[in-house]
Amino acid sequence: MENITVIGSGTMGNGIAHVFAQHNYKVSLVDISQEALDKAIATITQNLDRMVAKEIITKAEKEQTLQNLQTYTDLSKGVTHADLVIEAATENPEIKFKIFRDLDTLCKPHTILASNTSSISITRIAAQTKRTDKVIGMHFMNPVPVMKLVEVIRGYATSDATTQAIMHLSEKLHKIPTEVNDYPGFVSNRILMPMINEAIIALQEGVAGVKEIDTVMKLGMAHPMGPLQLADFIGLDVCLFIMRVLHDGLGKDKYAPSPLLINMVTAGHLGVKSGSGFYQYTKGSKELVVSPFFTK
Ligand code: NAD
Repeated sequence: MENITVIGSGTMGNGIAHVFAQHNYKVSLVDISQEALDKAIATITQNLDRMVAKEIITKAEKEQTLQNLQTYTDLSKGVTHADLVIEAATENPEIKFKIFRDLDTLCKPHTILASNTSSISITRIAAQTKRTDKVIGMHFMNPVPVMKLVEVIRGYATSDATTQAIMHLSEKLHKIPTEVNDYPGFVSNRILMPMINEAIIALQEGVAGVKEIDTVMKLGMAHPMGPLQLADFIGLDVCLFIMRVLHDGLGKDKYAPSPLLINMVTAGHLGVKSGSGFYQYTKGSKELVVSPFFTK
């Protein structure tokens, strides 16, 4: 595999493109927004500059990485040579289904189609195509250049050959691929999201305050970040969406999203990206300040 196309140049897409380009793959980065593509190249350049300053890569390696990247707003131009396409567009089933239908007609027959989805069924995504054996989940973690895990998700019809190719490729990126099957939330979010939801229920019931819940989990369980801070970082809308996928897909009350989580999302308190969640975020400040909604 030489030519990789990444679709969607947001938080995850730019990280995925960065990692492949740094390992000397030819990368086409596609987005419907030119602004998003420009921002992605600026972010990748900034991250590479930081790596040069820390002597992790040389200046020449930085330049080569940038040369390995091309950007497109036209999907048909960006996938012409692709051996592998990794879709990292907005987490919306209709958007992803349309992209996969288009990819199936535009890509060469041998091209593997992967999705970085956090929660949408790989089997449903694959069903949009006539190459269900060549569709797979390749779930990178944020921030992609730093995090080692790739959760490799086999859809119902994903072949052994496709799975092996993606496991092998992930290793070439110096990642640690881990194979899982296609059930709601896969492994990562099946376990992480109910923990976050339970922390929100504990807060809602007054078991403890925001700082106290996060401190217990950080110091007691050696988690680098407490579950409420992590929820703010992921985005409370994303957490709610994934809880709904678990609840719908597994049909058990234990996956019902917390009413407090629903209220916060309805009110637009989405965490870091909106400036307010369980904590409040001020540009330029790294201090962790509990939101006034939880100090009253
Ligand atoms: P994001 O909102 O930062 O970026 C999404 C990008 O997709 C945007 O730039 C948007 O313009 C583009 N886009 C939308 N429709 C498109 C289309 N039809 N064609 C091409 N580009 C299109 O989102 P993100 O956080 O990078 O998430 C992307 C995917 O990665 C989602 O499936 C998400 O569930 C998954 N994911 C996210 C994280 C995370 O921490 N953010 C972690 C793991 C997986």
